[in-house]
Amino acid sequence: MAGIYVHVPFCHSKCFYCDFYSLASTARVDAYADALAREWAARKGELGGESVTTLYFGGGTPSILRPDVFSRLAALFPLQKVDEFTIEVNPEDVSEAAAEAWLKAGVNRVSMGVQSLDDAELRAVGRRHTAAQALEAVRTLRRAGIGNISGDLIYGLPGQTVESWRESLRTLLGSGITHLSAYCLSFEQGTRLYRMREKGEVAEQDDEVIERMYGVLCDQARRAGMNHYEISNFARPGMESRHNSSYWTGAPYLGLGPGAHSLGADGVRRFVPSNLNRWLADPENAAERDEETATDRTNDRILISLRTARGLDLSALEADAAAHIAQAARPHVLSGNLVETGTHLVVPESRWLLCDSVIRDLFVD
Ligand code: SF4
Repeated sequence: MAGIYVHVPFCHSKCFYCDFYSLASTARVDAYADALAREWAARKGELGGESVTTLYFGGGTPSILRPDVFSRLAALFPLQKVDEFTIEVNPEDVSEAAAEAWLKAGVNRVSMGVQSLDDAELRAVGRRHTAAQALEAVRTLRRAGIGNISGDLIYGLPGQTVESWRESLRTLLGSGITHLSAYCLSFEQGTRLYRMREKGEVAEQDDEVIERMYGVLCDQARRAGMNHYEISNFARPGMESRHNSSYWTGAPYLGLGPGAHSLGADGVRRFVPSNLNRWLADPENAAERDEETATDRTNDRILISLRTARGLDLSALEADAAAHIAQAARPHVLSGNLVETGTHLVVPESRWLLCDSVIRDLFVD
């Protein structure tokens, strides 16, 4: 089983917090579509003949693509065994016609950037849509027959309060979505939000407020019948993202387009540099090998696994690494930061927000 990720590096404008690779322009969409077909033809062998079961168009803003371009790109891939085909969308791009085109191309899951259901909070980070548009977009998708909908929200936004966060969660969880991704706002270097903080125009929320928001998030999602299966992800039973879950289980995936990452069937990680012009000039050969050591791979596995409810399976690691981790984990097991369940180490939900320091303590060197 394998997945394909397609990075669509275009947006209508840049949100203030965003450090994903994307350009605020659609001028080169047609050239992009041609190059993507060439890259796929040249690199499909990296999947080693594994059946493709998940396809994910992310970005950037895939919903910016014209329906004819999106259909053409979707038709490149072997969809026969794909059981989850996701497109990331922004609310302002959702219409009956767009939803029909996505369905016709094979999409059966939509991941929508909602971020907040408070218009002032949306404006404060440069989002282009309103809360009402986001809720209408969910209704439009459901009417069109797309029932598997994930909503993204952000906590820690400028001006956000615990109460406004609770209200965004309550409303979105009541809208019929099947999956929720909730991220804590981060101030990444190079973003407009980072510069705004440097100039004193915005301030980060206090840790104590963030902890309360995280508590509200876990509580509201549980009441809505969602499982908290990864630090930032919640799903109704059976509606976990299969594509993202395969990242966490080590299944091969092929990432196409500038900014995309891959894990080949041969265990080699590759990445396409985040540079549209360079990629357009030679899409067949743009991907570079990520020279990972065995230690890097073990530490990646620790990092990724401990952010999931399943946790880290020590029996799947080399004996030396497993022994080192078991030893380093001992004080954290005693303090409750980690729980042992059979061969697994698990970070309890209540400690997930602060798990980075625990994870660092377990790294091998
Ligand atoms: S958050 Fe999404 S829509 Fe906004 S700039 Fe980033 S990729 Fe584009």
